[in-house]
Amino acid sequence: MSLPKPKTGSSRRLRYHPSLDEDTICAIATPLGEGGIGIIRVSGEKAIQVVSEIFEAKAGRPLSKAKTHTIHYGRVLDALTGEAIDEVLVSLMRAPRTYTCEDVVEIGCHGGSLLLRRVLESLLSHGARLAAPGEFTKRAFLNGRLDLVQAEAVLDLIQAKTEAVQRAALTQLQGKLSDRVHQIREPLITLLTRIEAAMDFAEEDIEVVDQKTISQIGKAASRAIQSLIESAEEWKILREGIATAIVGRPNVGKSSLLNALLQEDRAIVNPLPGTTRDVLEEMINIKGIPIRVMDTAGLRATQDPVEKEGVKRALRAVERADLVLAVFDLSEPFQPEDLDVLEALKGKQSLIVLNKADQPCRLETVELSHRLPSVRSVQLSAITGVGLDTLRQAICDTVLQGRAISHRPMLVNLRHKEALLRAETSLADLGRGVDQKIPHEFMSADLRCAVDALGEIVGEMTTEDLLDRIFRDFCIGK
Ligand code: GDP
Repeated sequence: MSLPKPKTGSSRRLRYHPSLDEDTICAIATPLGEGGIGIIRVSGEKAIQVVSEIFEAKAGRPLSKAKTHTIHYGRVLDALTGEAIDEVLVSLMRAPRTYTCEDVVEIGCHGGSLLLRRVLESLLSHGARLAAPGEFTKRAFLNGRLDLVQAEAVLDLIQAKTEAVQRAALTQLQGKLSDRVHQIREPLITLLTRIEAAMDFAEEDIEVVDQKTISQIGKAASRAIQSLIESAEEWKILREGIATAIVGRPNVGKSSLLNALLQEDRAIVNPLPGTTRDVLEEMINIKGIPIRVMDTAGLRATQDPVEKEGVKRALRAVERADLVLAVFDLSEPFQPEDLDVLEALKGKQSLIVLNKADQPCRLETVELSHRLPSVRSVQLSAITGVGLDTLRQAICDTVLQGRAISHRPMLVNLRHKEALLRAETSLADLGRGVDQKIPHEFMSADLRCAVDALGEIVGEMTTEDLLDRIFRDFCIGK
């Protein structure tokens, strides 16, 4: 994968991190199981040396003499017995133009888990150590190759469930959010420097920065931060999907509706890691918005003599949902359970689906608009598919509430949002302070808090704990 060039400039200086050890690390970078090829990745000062110990090049030339970014065909030998384990292609990349900025060697083996493990063990016995989850990317960060936002984008890219997320993650990896944060932060740093200079020259009574300038710069930064915070909401939708419950009494056509949507819109990958699995969930992709449908197939307790049980379950699903699709059968008059469902919709973001529109209408729809006047209803037939497109559009309109998702929001995650909120609070304090003409010392303290909070986002200020939290979600080998 091609990665953006390391950034240079004052804000992207290489940092010293005591945690950056000198070990050479290795890991199987492809999923375990049978496959066409399996790749083992090695990174570190001794990467080339360690691989040389177990690799016999067909051409006979030692790896240590090979040029950077070259591929070599040969055999991997068992460290103990010298027996050949596999025929491989070794890609050799010398520091610093590599993923980690260190020497990196990738061994392309045949994709069998036993042989990959044997190759890995041979590397371990020659002095490499097994990489921790995300350790290659962590090294890329520590060596200044990626900033923290870009490192997170690598994980987002790998875990993307829809094209919208994948596109946004790639833009993030190329530094879009990082650039934005730097653009907001730089004027604040300049202002901070000027205010601190003003403090140093205080007795000479020189007003180096006037109040109006401070206020203007603070407000501009605050506006830009707010717009990023708004992106966080949109990004949450893109990333986690909208928890959606399809509810209704038995036989109204809930399963038929789900199947109709699944047939055309099923997302390529179903479950989101980490989501609660107490109900079955299906991910569908409606106009780029991931919709996490809670499968309330359990509602179909029609054989159950106590039909109420179905409604009870529906009500529980409603409680958990961000969006409720309440299904009614147009071909039958209202039944008491229908009214229970209607009752449960109050206060929820919902859409009314009037199913079986291909049948003669026997439902008093006036009753619906009377009880829930502000809820939009869509007539459709889950069997013929008529009206499904209108439902898709209604889902988008309801979820986005007039916002467009097409402007490709920045992937502002919870960690970024929390830091942005802190920066915003400090800038609000600064604004009030300017109005009250507080001393420069206090202004400088507020500004410093805002600058530091923004710095945390891109990783200018980090703690070991923060890095652990970010990289532990990565797979081994990334
Ligand atoms: P659920 O119990 O709410 O999940 O309902 P189902 O999806 O199992 O549907 C109940 C019955 O209604 C089945 O026989 C379906 O074939 C039928 N059905 C579902 N949707 C439609 C529709 O749009 N038109 C017609 N004519 N029948 C439908």
